[in-house]
Amino acid sequence: MREQLRALVKLSEIDARARGVDDQLKGIPAELEERRGAVRALESLVSRQTAAIVEAEKLVGQQDADLASRNDLLGKSKAKGAKARTMRESDAAERELESIRKSIKDGEAEKERLRERVSATRSALDAPEMALEEQRSDLEKAEVAATARLEALRAERQEILVGRGEWSSQIAKDHLRLYDRLRTKLSPAVVEATAETCLGCRMKIPPQRFLELQRCNTLMQCSFCNRIIYHRDLMQD
Ligand SMILES: [Zn+2]
Repeated sequence: MREQLRALVKLSEIDARARGVDDQLKGIPAELEERRGAVRALESLVSRQTAAIVEAEKLVGQQDADLASRNDLLGKSKAKGAKARTMRESDAAERELESIRKSIKDGEAEKERLRERVSATRSALDAPEMALEEQRSDLEKAEVAATARLEALRAERQEILVGRGEWSSQIAKDHLRLYDRLRTKLSPAVVEATAETCLGCRMKIPPQRFLELQRCNTLMQCSFCNRIIYHRDLMQD
C-alpha cells in the first residue's frame, strides 16, 4: 500500500504542475483575443469617423459647386438689372438680386458649418487613431511574445510529464480509476494530512481515522472533500 500511495502522491504532484501549465496555456490565447477585440472596436470607430469626414467633405464640395453657380446667376442678374428700362423692371431685377445674394449667404454659412464639422470630427479622431496605433503595436509584440511563451510552456509541460507513465504503472487499476475520477474535479487530488487535518479542505480528521491513516494499510479519502489523503511520514524514509 505504501508504495502505491507514494506513486499516487508523485502522480498527483505531476498532474497538479501540468495543470498549472495548462491554465497558463489557456490564458495566453484568451488574453490575446481580448486585445484583438479591443483593436477591432477601435478600428471600427476610426473607420466610421473617417467615413463621416469623407461624407462631410463631399458636401463641402457640392456646396462649393452650388455657390459657384449662384455667383454665376448673380452676375447675370446684375447685367439684366443694368439693362432695365422701367421702374418695374428695375424693381424686379433688384428683388431677384436680393434673393440670389441671400441664397449665397445661406450657402456660405452652410459651407462654414460643414467645414467646422469636418474639423471637429478630425480632431476628435486624433486620440482614437493614436490609441489604435499603440494598441496594434502592443498586440503585435504580445503575439510574438505569446508564441515564444506557448512554446516554452509546451516544452515545460512535456518535461513535467516525463516519468508519469512509470508512476501510474505502479498503481492498482481501481486506485488509478478513483484517482482519475477525482482529479477531474480536484487539483491536487492527493493531499497530506497533518495534525489530524486534511490539507486539501482544512477539515478535522477524527483521531481514530487519523491513526488508521498513519498505519497506511488502506487507501483513504477525506470524508469531507473526497481527496485521497496520506500521512506525512509516508514520504519520509
Ligand atoms: Zn479534505
